[in-house]
Amino acid sequence: MLWYPYQQMKTMKPPYKVVDAEGVYLCTEEKKLIDSVSSWWSVIHGYKHPELTAAIQKQAGIFSHVMLGGLTHEPVQRLAQKLEEWLPGDLDYSFFSDSGSVAVEVALKMALQYYVNRGEKGRTKVLSLKDAYHGDTFKTMEVGDNEDYHFILDVYGEKKNVIHIPTRIAELEAAFEAHHRELNALIVEPLLQGAGGMKMYDISFLRKARELCDRYGVLLIFDEVATGFGRTGYRFVADEVLPDILVLGKALTGGYIGHAVTVANHKVYDAFYGDEQSKALMHGPTFMGNALACSVALKSIELFEREDYLAKIKKIEAVAKREMAGFEDPRVKEVRIMGGCVCVEADEPQTLAGYQQFAYERGVFSRPFLTCLYAMVPYVIEEEELVQVLSCMKAWFRR
Ligand SMILES: *Cc1c(COP(=O)(O)O)cnc(C)c1O
Repeated sequence: MLWYPYQQMKTMKPPYKVVDAEGVYLCTEEKKLIDSVSSWWSVIHGYKHPELTAAIQKQAGIFSHVMLGGLTHEPVQRLAQKLEEWLPGDLDYSFFSDSGSVAVEVALKMALQYYVNRGEKGRTKVLSLKDAYHGDTFKTMEVGDNEDYHFILDVYGEKKNVIHIPTRIAELEAAFEAHHRELNALIVEPLLQGAGGMKMYDISFLRKARELCDRYGVLLIFDEVATGFGRTGYRFVADEVLPDILVLGKALTGGYIGHAVTVANHKVYDAFYGDEQSKALMHGPTFMGNALACSVALKSIELFEREDYLAKIKKIEAVAKREMAGFEDPRVKEVRIMGGCVCVEADEPQTLAGYQQFAYERGVFSRPFLTCLYAMVPYVIEEEELVQVLSCMKAWFRR
């Protein structure tokens, strides 16, 4: 028996069974659906991309996986090299993991140990944002802030090692003033908070965060698992404001194989570098640096650059702004658009009940959550397909 994610199995509606997928389309036995979710925001090039498929096939003909303990291989070395050149600033040291949650765990472990290695053992707390989502493992739940996902943590009582603040500069400054001696890091989903409700905030908050982290010697972690690879309209938000540690996942492999990376800057890496084994980073996911994942990630990055994806994302944003202009409804609180993300926030979750089936009948796969009706489409979508997705969203309120 299969146990599905985020579902009460007793009341779950049977999921749609995908039998084929190509470009932006998912195919069931009876329907062809535009995937407006991009398989949890990861499939940026669409499905069955010939070059991505070929990259995996080629590597599979050599070997699919070897561990990185005592071994190494060309795809993982090439990907680390590519990220070193491609990512901004001195984000040069890539530690691979099999999922975004694990890569966030690694970032948090790095931040804690960074200070331990320097002899500062009192820096045990992390500053994090309200409505944050950083994954479903225990430490990532703790830095996360969403009772809809992580209410289970309530049994532990109040969080001891995480402080949550809203995305407002006054609260940010106050938190640093009050807690800077005990903080090892500030972790944020920059500009766009995804699973916590598609919240968007201004870059001035991040610039101030960088300034305060520098002033008080606190590490800045960007969890760009969702925002990386163009989703906000920036290639990485890290291109605009440089963090000390950057986490990438989801679209890293074009959504073809689960993989993620925690990228540290020189300052962080140097705190681990030395003669003592006790200063080493004690982490090592079995499937880190998987050769198939690294091969397809390299090809995905090549496509992203070669096909000018940032221009495609600009176009998506422009079409979305045009199509949603003037759209309003008493049940809609707000329409938010940023880069490749369009979110219609409803007044209550009940307003969206039944939307998934409504969209299915109109050739669109959608998965609203909380009060968010949203589209995060593959960047290769054609204009008329995007219009179809957005028209479907609007049509729901005109029934
Ligand atoms: C999805 C997500 C994660 C978790 O990634 P998984 O691969 O699902 O473990 C972490 N952070 C953010 C911002 C995410 O959107």
